[in-house]
Amino acid sequence: MRHNLFWKLTLTFFALLVGFLLAVDFFAERALREDYANTAFAQLAAIAHIAQARPPHLAAIPPANPEEISALQEWTSEMAASGARVTIITPEGLVLADSQSDPRTMENHASRPEIRDALAKGEGQSTRHSVTINRDLLYYAVKQNVGADSPVVLRFAIPLATIQDFLGSFRRSLWLASLIILLLAGAASLLVSLGLSARIERLEEFSRRVAEGDFRPLPGDGSGAALEKLGASLNQTAARLDQTIRTLTEERNLSSAILGSMVEGVAVVNGAERLVFANHSFAEILELHALPKSGSALVEVVRQTEMIEAVRKVLAGEPRVESEIVTGTLRQHFFAATVASVRAGETSGAVVVLHDITELRKLERVRRDFVANVSHEFRTPLTAIQGFAETLLAGAMNDPQHRERFLEIIVEHSRRLARLTEDLLMLSKMDADRLELEIRRVSVAQLIESCIETSRHRASEKEIAISVKPFNGLPDVAGDRRRLAEVLQNLLDNATQYTLARGQIAVSAEARDAEVIFTVADTGIGIPTADQPRIFERFYRVDAARSRELGGTGLGLSIAKHIVEVHGGRIWVESEIGRGSRFHFSVPIFDAERVARATPSGGTSRSTGRASA
Ligand code: ADP
Repeated sequence: MRHNLFWKLTLTFFALLVGFLLAVDFFAERALREDYANTAFAQLAAIAHIAQARPPHLAAIPPANPEEISALQEWTSEMAASGARVTIITPEGLVLADSQSDPRTMENHASRPEIRDALAKGEGQSTRHSVTINRDLLYYAVKQNVGADSPVVLRFAIPLATIQDFLGSFRRSLWLASLIILLLAGAASLLVSLGLSARIERLEEFSRRVAEGDFRPLPGDGSGAALEKLGASLNQTAARLDQTIRTLTEERNLSSAILGSMVEGVAVVNGAERLVFANHSFAEILELHALPKSGSALVEVVRQTEMIEAVRKVLAGEPRVESEIVTGTLRQHFFAATVASVRAGETSGAVVVLHDITELRKLERVRRDFVANVSHEFRTPLTAIQGFAETLLAGAMNDPQHRERFLEIIVEHSRRLARLTEDLLMLSKMDADRLELEIRRVSVAQLIESCIETSRHRASEKEIAISVKPFNGLPDVAGDRRRLAEVLQNLLDNATQYTLARGQIAVSAEARDAEVIFTVADTGIGIPTADQPRIFERFYRVDAARSRELGGTGLGLSIAKHIVEVHGGRIWVESEIGRGSRFHFSVPIFDAERVARATPSGGTSRSTGRASA
């Protein structure tokens, strides 16, 4: 780089200098030559003038006698003392005398331009090569009467060699001076270019650094020259660039952190239907194995045609399109896909946001099922009551035998309706978080005994034996006595209901860690494994007809589950078809401090945990 610049500068300078010198040489030579020729001709004219004032005298041409010849020769020599060559020529071109050659050896001069001019116009001049003396000469000729019957031509010439010599020496000094100037200028330009190129190299290095992201400023060289000012302004540019890049990077990091941590799936598609960006949630929702690469075609990544169509509509000009997509085959998930158009300057595209609405759809389904179930549960007893009441009114009222039976059926169905309504009220309380618990110290033994007492009558009807495993020394539990009794009672009722005559029911309790686990085991019909996780759902029954027949509502276990859970416990079942079931539920052991902390208003608390039943 350094040498490059130096050579460029030097060669340019050299070329300029040589061009200039050639021009000077050319014009100077021309001017000098012209000037010299003019001076020389003026000098020759002056000599000719003197010669004309004192011309030679000739009686005849050519001179006949020897005196005349020698006089002519003498005149010629005399005139040649001026430094010019003198020649006398007849109009026919015959040389009569010459100051430098023997006229007898000289050729005819009639065709010489200066002679012809002199004869025609009185004078003539020319610059040319002399054949006689083999030199370049300047000639000046005049016509002169010499007394004979025809005039002669007097010719004067001086050699051109002098001017050539002068020009040669002029040229030598010109080129020598130029060479010295060239060397001096070369040295100067070398120094300047070295300094300049060092600074340019620094600037180049600096700009390379900036391009690589290193924005440290360039130290000044103290020269105060234009290049230092350039350096300073480059420093400013670099600082501004650094600041801008920092701001942009921070903004980008922030937005990618936000997009990355979003639960919603977000993707950006460009006008060519290619993915520009997609966050992790987007990949997870669509069950992609990895984050899709930027630039991959949407149709290759996404299988949900609803989404592709929505994107196409937006790319075609619609500002916003909402659609719904479903993922998964075994466990379906529902997502609301909102596609909106994005415009950033010239480019346009679409942003896709996937929002999980599975829970919403599930709740909708539960609500629909619930309404259907409730209506169904109400219809049977209502139809029965209506039917028997109408029969009574139609005349059966007067038949004492049927009347009583019909009235009993009506009472039984109304009880069922009452139970159903009670259970539904309980559910609605639980759903609205309005189930108030009075958390107190509850004795496990008392709780079990009171419930067994209630069940004993029905059990004995079916000859079912209820046994209680001894549980001396069990700690008290923390709970709402009435609600816990409801749970246990429900389990005991179910055990009695779903156990055939002469079966057995065993109730036990044991303390484990911070809980007491209650168990109600029966030798009943059992529950199929597939149904076991679902019996705690509302209205779920293994055998709906049988349950109804036995007066069940299908809500007992879901209510029990909710109550146990709001106490901070769990409920679960182990069962084998035909051999019996074991229902367990846990309740926390009473801890005065904990109860005080949990219920500051003296033991009453609202149920907060929502039962998943
Ligand atoms: P139901 O009013 O029908 O008894 P539950 O919610 O109490 O409603 O029980 C749900 C279902 O669980 C019952 O319909 C029955 O099929 C099954 N079930 C509950 N307890 C037992 C048990 N001890 N033995 C066999 N099946 C039972």
